[in-house]
Amino acid sequence: MVKQDKRVVVIGAGMAGILAGIKLREAGFTEIAIYEKADRVGGTWRENTYPGLTCDVPSHHYTYSFERNPDWSRHLSPGPEIQSYFERTAKKYGVDEILHCNQQATSAEFIDGRWHLGFQDGHSDVADILISATGVLHKPKYPQIDGIETFKGDCFHSARWDHSVALEGKRIGVIGNGSTGVQLISALAGRAGKLEHFVRHPQWIMPVENGYFSNEERQAFHDPAVLKEAMRFEEYNAAVERYTTAIVDMESEGAREMGAICLANLEQSVKDPVLREQLRPDHAPLCYRLIFSPDYYQAIQHPNAALVTEGIAGIEEAGIRTADGELHELDIIVLATGFHPDTFMRPMAFKGRNGVDLETLWADGPKAYLAATLPDFPNFFMLNGPNGPVGNFSLIDIAELQWHYIAQCIDKLTTQEFDEISPSTESMVRFESERVAAAKETVWYRGGCKSWYLDKNGVPSSWPWTYSRFAQAMSEPDWPAFECVKHPT
Ligand code: NAP
Repeated sequence: MVKQDKRVVVIGAGMAGILAGIKLREAGFTEIAIYEKADRVGGTWRENTYPGLTCDVPSHHYTYSFERNPDWSRHLSPGPEIQSYFERTAKKYGVDEILHCNQQATSAEFIDGRWHLGFQDGHSDVADILISATGVLHKPKYPQIDGIETFKGDCFHSARWDHSVALEGKRIGVIGNGSTGVQLISALAGRAGKLEHFVRHPQWIMPVENGYFSNEERQAFHDPAVLKEAMRFEEYNAAVERYTTAIVDMESEGAREMGAICLANLEQSVKDPVLREQLRPDHAPLCYRLIFSPDYYQAIQHPNAALVTEGIAGIEEAGIRTADGELHELDIIVLATGFHPDTFMRPMAFKGRNGVDLETLWADGPKAYLAATLPDFPNFFMLNGPNGPVGNFSLIDIAELQWHYIAQCIDKLTTQEFDEISPSTESMVRFESERVAAAKETVWYRGGCKSWYLDKNGVPSSWPWTYSRFAQAMSEPDWPAFECVKHPT
């Protein structure tokens, strides 16, 4: 193994930051620092601890390809198991040794060929290569609802769960019906004394199995050949391609099939015709990120549960007042109201070559060349950056594809061939115009809903092509799109 003497700083120790640490060590880098704002690794899975938290990607596929886990308890893994998986994987691969916790990066500037970083506690660092692995959905979005501060009970965001609050027998209101709100309703239906789900726009629900693996099955999965067979890669990959094709082409066969399954799920699972109509979405399936749930419809039909589609007029001391004048008295209000998806590494102050400011570059919304690099930000790479694929498939797989791409760019620096690498402004502009045009053809834009996929201009910000196109783009950088600089010696 070649020893690499460049200093690399990674910001964030979630799934992608851990991956970067493992891969950098594997490549022989000895000068690596991973900075994490919290007290431990895990990102999303550390921050989200709400009851019912589950990954809707089949559990065996939601792992690093080099560290499969035969021990998942269920087909869809529960959040705490995923958090332990990341903690033990970070330890196993020595990420703990290069990890600096409780260190929030506040600034980065490219000066004289290197990245100069500042941290909240006043310390600084300098890096030749900077990698941002700060995640996408990490800044909770709090709703602007009149009187919310007057509520006398407990009120918190789903990603800031207050575990000191007892749930059993309580009157609980959940606002929001994205993947989080739906999982919460399933988990709370048998526990709350009264459970009310406040829904503005009902969503399509894809039925899914979530059984437990038996001890015998888990034992058998320790044989990699058995696990590989159980993962049915061909079928899984085809499903991902079909899903992303359905996003790109609303008229595709896959889109029609998925729509039909969701419709049948609604028709067959909800007995009361009034409730069924209230739960019937008015947008095309997949316009929102599709919700996979084995039991939401059963949960909302629980005797203690109720759907509330009347708009929220305000929140008062005793509960939620809806537009029809009814007061819904509650002990707990959970805000499953989503996240600000355009934060990435901000609020860091970020400046590239010659003082180019990230805020100026992103004035119209976050963007990146093929989701990974930025013009005038040399030797800076993003994992799960803007416009990358985010959907009903493994983001770990996406990060690994991105790493494969980024590692080839880094090679240009470590072989001493070049000192700086970044995409040209022309390639960024060209890519961006193709991306926006393609985004306007997707179901996210044309499907009749307004989801978190849309940026402030109403343009979908996620990867607007198929999974296979992304995998192809990540297989090798298109070198003519990059500007490579050699410093005079
Ligand atoms: P979300 O999909 O953005 O949903 C937010 C919900 O809150 C929507 O139903 C929205 O209603 C509602 N809402 C927002 N502001 C409101 C207000 N002022 N009044 C009433 N309702 C309001 O958020 P999320 O459910 O947390 O999910 C975000 C993403 O996290 C998912 O799309 C997914 O990528 C990820 N996630 C994944 C999993 C998994 O299993 N892998 C689980 C959870 C989350 P409108 O639709 O009417 O705006």
